[in-house]
Amino acid sequence: MSSDRERTTSHLLLTQEPQRLGSGWLSGTIGAIVGLAGLAAAACLVWPQALTTPALRDHYPANLRTWVVAALAVATALATLSLWLRRKKTLGVVALGSAALGGTLLLFAADLSTPGTTTSLLAVDVFTLNLLLYPAVFLPLERLWPHRDQPTFRAEWWTDLAWFASSALLVQLTTFLVLAPGNAVSGVTASFGANVAALRFVVQFAAIVVVADVAQYWVHRACHQVPFLWRFHAIHHSAEAMDWLAGSRLHVVDALLTRALVFLAIAALGFHLHVIGLYLVFIAAQATFVHANVAWRLRWLEGWLVTPRFHHWHHAKAPIDVNFAVHLPWLDRLFGTFHLPPLAWPEHYGLAAGAKGPRGFWRQLVAPFRRRQPPWS
Ligand SMILES: [Zn+2]
Ligand SMILES: [Zn+2]
Repeated sequence: MSSDRERTTSHLLLTQEPQRLGSGWLSGTIGAIVGLAGLAAAACLVWPQALTTPALRDHYPANLRTWVVAALAVATALATLSLWLRRKKTLGVVALGSAALGGTLLLFAADLSTPGTTTSLLAVDVFTLNLLLYPAVFLPLERLWPHRDQPTFRAEWWTDLAWFASSALLVQLTTFLVLAPGNAVSGVTASFGANVAALRFVVQFAAIVVVADVAQYWVHRACHQVPFLWRFHAIHHSAEAMDWLAGSRLHVVDALLTRALVFLAIAALGFHLHVIGLYLVFIAAQATFVHANVAWRLRWLEGWLVTPRFHHWHHAKAPIDVNFAVHLPWLDRLFGTFHLPPLAWPEHYGLAAGAKGPRGFWRQLVAPFRRRQPPWS
């Protein structure tokens, strides 16, 4: 059994270098994340109109520059420690390089004194916040309670980071496109919506989770069963390692279609804006968590809320077409697609046996548009 497990995971390994305390891995990883975030924040200070989102601009502290200087100093110290402790220098060089580049950029930066309301090209500030927040939450969980013994920087890690980055950088455009159909119908159903918005907050929140997940369930199931939609959704299923970052591998067409239709259902019912806001935080956290390489059983919760083990079975090479729900596993029971054998986790993740998806961000982005039938569909 253990040799099976080793064989299963061996192809996922990018490096065999130790990650234990004192190996320079932790200092290098934190240094690289803080350094890259500092570099991105410095770029935001130099080009605030082009790289920061209007909705967030007013909320940044006036002394953001001081915070960025502090972050770059921390990254430099951690990089030095990692370069000293670790034989492989990649993490230390990334941390030191980004801190040096960020420091140079800061020479040209001003404080964010004139925020302005112009729409920016890329939401580099959203990317920076995500880069700090998601690893801070999920890296400790995956290192302390891993289901599989796999390194953080596993094979195809760069590909998934590119999807993670692109979805944050383009968030203004995708939000606009996702909201457009829902906004169009919300006026039509305004009187019904007023009744829904008057309900208690907890009732509305429970209702929004059910409504959103019923919509999500059927859109998701259609993405598996309609060949044209599967072309795009197959990119999400091409990931052969599961962790918090793997969930980011979602083709932009897949993400737009699913989110727009789910928002259409939410907007038609007219939930209060605060309820919608809380739901967006909830889905961002849960959709990331269910992909995480975390061994938690959460037995008492498994029947009611989707857990990593439940969604990992959705990514299994076999059986396919099970566990479509994102929040509520009992929807799969209701619609006959539930699969959760006691205690067991899948052996292999990815497309069905024999099928290989495209490798690398750019190939995955264009492959579904190719006229020739992709080999995985
Ligand atoms: Zn799926
Ligand atoms: Zn998934």
